[in-house]
Amino acid sequence: MLWVTVLSSLLALIGFGAAVCYGVPLAIRAAQVKRWNARGAGVLALTYDDGPDPTTTRAVLDLLDREQAPATFYLVGFRADQDPEVCDEIVSRGHELGTHTHRHKNAWRIGPLAEYKDAHRAYDSLSRWVDADAPYRPPFGKASLPTWLSMRLRGRPVDWWTIPAEDTKDRFPDPAEFAQRVVDSGGPVVLMHCHHQEPHRRAFVLSLTSALIEAARSRGIRLVTMSDLRASCR
Ligand SMILES: [Zn+2]
Repeated sequence: MLWVTVLSSLLALIGFGAAVCYGVPLAIRAAQVKRWNARGAGVLALTYDDGPDPTTTRAVLDLLDREQAPATFYLVGFRADQDPEVCDEIVSRGHELGTHTHRHKNAWRIGPLAEYKDAHRAYDSLSRWVDADAPYRPPFGKASLPTWLSMRLRGRPVDWWTIPAEDTKDRFPDPAEFAQRVVDSGGPVVLMHCHHQEPHRRAFVLSLTSALIEAARSRGIRLVTMSDLRASCR
């Protein structure tokens, strides 16, 4: 029957559109991780998502100060509205900033239009601290093709990571063993979070940061910001 044919064609078209919309960024992400893993030997970027937070972000900043280590922070707009002075501190202490949307929603759940608006809104809410071409990191690593393209057309790098630190999971790895795995693997971008409210998560991120710095330096691996890393992985 005609209506069955039309309906099945429509569903196939929607399925194809969704596959392109969300599948292409996944392929781009895989290619980025592959390139960074292949070319990132000798450098390590410490990255922190989901801040700012007055306690955890400040504790991370104090540790990085003591170690004289650079890092990159991907900030969430609504948290910056709540604690703008922490953003001032990140900048004044010489670290690099990127955006991580305003509301921190999962792109696969809210749809491409809401994701697009939320991703770009962060450049307004964070404009005191980030440049118009600052990098963008999608929450949960998920992006749609329109949002990815819109960022790239504005000259904004879209950054993923090569190794997640598992600091949002229920069980943490041993910091020293994890750091050793990182430097052994050659994966140059570690994802951590600096918004934790629970003391045990905060303690893990701080221990892991220390362990990563120590492991990198003992191997002669240079700690870099993400812009340095992108430059060295071209
Ligand atoms: Zn996040």
